[in-house]
Amino acid sequence: MSTAAQLGYLGLEVSDLGAWRGFATELLGLAVGEPRSDGALPLRMDERAFRILLHEGPRDDVAFLGWEFADGASLEAATKRLSSAGVLFQHGSAAEIAARGVRTMIVLEDPDGVRTEFYHGPAVAPNPFRSNRIAAGFRTGAMGMGHVLLDVRDCDATERFYLDVLGFRLSDYIDTEFMGGPLHAVFLHVNPRHHSLACASLGGTKRLHHLMLEANAIDDVGATFYRAQDLGVPIALTLGRHPNDRMISFYGVTPAGFLFELGAEGREIDDRNWQVRTYDAVSEWGHRPVASA
Ligand code: FE
Repeated sequence: MSTAAQLGYLGLEVSDLGAWRGFATELLGLAVGEPRSDGALPLRMDERAFRILLHEGPRDDVAFLGWEFADGASLEAATKRLSSAGVLFQHGSAAEIAARGVRTMIVLEDPDGVRTEFYHGPAVAPNPFRSNRIAAGFRTGAMGMGHVLLDVRDCDATERFYLDVLGFRLSDYIDTEFMGGPLHAVFLHVNPRHHSLACASLGGTKRLHHLMLEANAIDDVGATFYRAQDLGVPIALTLGRHPNDRMISFYGVTPAGFLFELGAEGREIDDRNWQVRTYDAVSEWGHRPVASA
């Protein structure tokens, strides 16, 4: 089943743009691009014109996810599948397409109302990217910008939607106790990145639990962990390694209140021999919750 090729970009609605600009550049080593036609502030992490778009607003949550298709034909095939599944979608307006700088776009909602953009033909920046903070750069390319974990009302319904309607592929599950309660998390992939989207029902007020960016070098993760403490960015979970995606990472709190994860050494999935498993722990080691942020 042809599906999205990568999580190409995501939009965040944030109430404090100034704090986000400083956080994104000084801590995460992202670069600020030229403002888009709709006023969004683009954050770069590679050759693309943006991987994150910041929109000023009160929600402090994810505004949209942009799933990139390899070409017009695969996007067209996905559109047909949405139609036959009875999923409503709209074609992106000229203004929306211009703001994202893509060739074509359709817009739908996932089961939790997360605005989901399917597009092809991404915007590429005219000048190269270099990070002032992440010396070895970010791992993106065909694996996309990273991953998100969505806090959803009905994890099974979300899993079915992304697998059966959108054609994502199952990576694995984690079923465990975490921070005093049961946790059932579902991990889905669209390319060799272990997961581009995960979901769990965490009972939070935001749809976005965290977004993960992957550095090419573990040293950049360690250095950023300590830089966060120097900058006063709250740590949520200390350094640790997840058993399923094998990522060594830490979690901190963004200026919007949802979390970020910065990792390295994530494993890749080869669909020809992948075995779906259920893990009984969130971490192999570390990822210790920090009591007071
Ligand atoms: Fe994660």
